[in-house]
Amino acid sequence: MDLRLTEEQERFRQTVQTWLSANLPAGWGTPAYKPPTTPAEQVAFARTWQRQLYDGGWAGITWPKEFGGRGLSTVEQLIYNEEYARFAAPDILALKIGLSLVGPMLIACGNAEQKARFLTPILNGQEIWCQGFSEPNAGSDLASVKTKAELLGDEFIVTGQKIWTSVAKHADWCMLVTRTSFEGPKHKGLTFLLVDLKSPGITIRPLREMTGEEWFNEVFFDELRVPRANVVGEINGGWHVVMATLGHERAGTTPHVRLQAESNRLARLALKTPRNGARAADDPVVRQKVAQAAIESAILRYTAYRNVTMVSRTGVPGSEGSILKIFWSELEQRLKDTAIEILGNWGLIPANEMHAVDGGFWAYELLWSRSSTIYAGTSEVQRNIIAQRVLGLPR
Ligand SMILES: Cc1cc2nc3c(=O)[nH]c(=O)nc-3n(C[C@H](O)[C@H](O)[C@H](O)COP(=O)(O)OP(=O)(O)OC[C@H]3O[C@@H](n4cnc5c(N)ncnc54)[C@H](O)[C@@H]3O)c2cc1C
Repeated sequence: MDLRLTEEQERFRQTVQTWLSANLPAGWGTPAYKPPTTPAEQVAFARTWQRQLYDGGWAGITWPKEFGGRGLSTVEQLIYNEEYARFAAPDILALKIGLSLVGPMLIACGNAEQKARFLTPILNGQEIWCQGFSEPNAGSDLASVKTKAELLGDEFIVTGQKIWTSVAKHADWCMLVTRTSFEGPKHKGLTFLLVDLKSPGITIRPLREMTGEEWFNEVFFDELRVPRANVVGEINGGWHVVMATLGHERAGTTPHVRLQAESNRLARLALKTPRNGARAADDPVVRQKVAQAAIESAILRYTAYRNVTMVSRTGVPGSEGSILKIFWSELEQRLKDTAIEILGNWGLIPANEMHAVDGGFWAYELLWSRSSTIYAGTSEVQRNIIAQRVLGLPR
């Protein structure tokens, strides 16, 4: 693998830097900046910021130009992601599913009408999407979904339940995995539908996470009607679309930059935290763990580069994405655990309470990072994929 960038790519990096320096919200990243706090405010902010990125030509680096993208390669996408993370630019959680999953899925598997209808409103922040895959008895074993879709004339009638549907309460559309056949192998009876969440027959109930936020939801469908034109791929051929979507979910190219920044932050924490009359950083065990976090974030960077090389050669993220997913999600947890070891009980004081360290960052991250080895496929499931599809071991 050649890790050097071409002159043109270096210029691209500088253009990203120049644009971000000039366009980040006023005061962004300074203590004076007051970020939006409630989910509704965060969603409104995400839409506005995404619109600004779109108008500036910075949305959809690899998406086709005709839908508002830039039509560039995954290397430029990587450069853009690295700079975006380096500037700690806004984390637009509410739009992530549309931008990182639905868009690439539609580009790969959608028909011309679906691309024309849906891609631009995702890119400009106008329409928010959620992912209706998991059910109470179908998480890792996704092929077991039971939400039933029955074709009557030109419409599907959908009845069933999804769970853990992030941002559903704020979303306009949902990509939904449904069962259209109960015969034959489980994964051959699934159909992938695009669902307008304003349709009658949908109930959305928020679930509270241990961070105190409510991004999760349960979503119930009671004789919801979905036009046949909203099928992606073939009827009973939804598994292929599910696999394409999950490949993108696992092979993200941003965690290495974020974790690199967090490992630097961890080192600063060790230097400023007093311990036994000296600094935590003077303790050899702490020093070893902080160094390990820095080493592992560098390993993660090269693993991400290897994955980008694979995508640029083949056009799709391979099963190797599972290696990346395990590595970043478990590093994420080790890093946060080390921070709490350094801080002791102080590290658990949440934001907005007296004595919260770093504005409660580590306390929040300790809780949030627990989810990283669960979403986008658990670590156990990733290890199965590596064993079977990368190493060729028997089931
Ligand atoms: C923060 C977060 C956001 C999420 N957002 C969404 C969303 O927007 N949309 C959505 O559809 N879902 C979402 N999910 C759900 C997520 O996809 C599931 O939680 C995940 O797939 C695991 O499924 P499960 O919870 O049913 O656990 P299970 O599948 O019941 O797993 C329970 C345990 O058994 C282990 N296990 C299961 N099967 C195997 C096996 N074959 N071999 C070895 N071990 C196994 C698992 O690793 C796990 O430890 C989200 C989850 C989280 C944490």
